[in-house]
Amino acid sequence: MNCFPPLLLALALGTAQAQTPPTAAASAPQRVHTAAIRAARVRGLAEQMNLPAETLKQSCRFESDISTPPPPGVVSLSFDDGPEPGATEAILALLDKHQIPATFFLVAAKAQQHPELAALVKAHPRALVGNHSWSHPNFHDIAPAQRASEVERSDAALAAFEAPKLFRYPYGNSSCDSNAQLQQRGYRIVGWHVDSCDWAFDKTGSIDPHEAKICGVEKANREHFIDHVVAAVKARKGGIVLLHEIHPHTLARLDELITRLLAEGFRFAPVNDPAFEASLR
Ligand SMILES: [Zn+2]
Repeated sequence: MNCFPPLLLALALGTAQAQTPPTAAASAPQRVHTAAIRAARVRGLAEQMNLPAETLKQSCRFESDISTPPPPGVVSLSFDDGPEPGATEAILALLDKHQIPATFFLVAAKAQQHPELAALVKAHPRALVGNHSWSHPNFHDIAPAQRASEVERSDAALAAFEAPKLFRYPYGNSSCDSNAQLQQRGYRIVGWHVDSCDWAFDKTGSIDPHEAKICGVEKANREHFIDHVVAAVKARKGGIVLLHEIHPHTLARLDELITRLLAEGFRFAPVNDPAFEASLR
């Protein structure tokens, strides 16, 4: 079963055909994950449209979409849902190639399965390990005690890899009780300025009209993942960009994305750079 990691590495480094289909073993869990992201996004949007702004604010439920402007011209890449054998190494190789930093928000249960990958991220001079919960539940669907346990277990499992302590909510779905618990444990909570919506582009490289609406993808960019992300970064004049380790399409296009952003004049900084201080919670 050693064929998958080199394939991802080859895709990321542009030495394989970008159209190479993912293996069946790799694509099945991604479909499930994509459906879960889509469902969470649709429900979240409905809730945000139907509840008064003040009620929403008091509930702390949707704070991951950062409204604070980013430092102008500065981009910080973040990769959720790893570690993922093959993908983690491929992303680290691209950070070396372009000499840029990134944050990896790891699912702690997966990090426990692949401690060597978590250690690889930690050892990399330009990579940060962040916490993306123990098992990636939707925090809006579980009881406060379960939310507390997710934070506690992930904090314990990732303690050896984290410095500084950064947390990103699965699906971006925050809660006031978890915010308080995380801050007590010394975490900064990290959302995003730009959602690449790479999960929606992953199936075919294009995004369907419904998902494009959910993601705010301009019509002209529905077939063009890179153009969408670059346009979204330019619209925010930089910012923390949400990407995922688990989507082969993202890996296949990542080199090109970084190259385009550099050509547009953006510089890259780690998310704990003082320039992003006002963007973290
Ligand atoms: Zn996630």
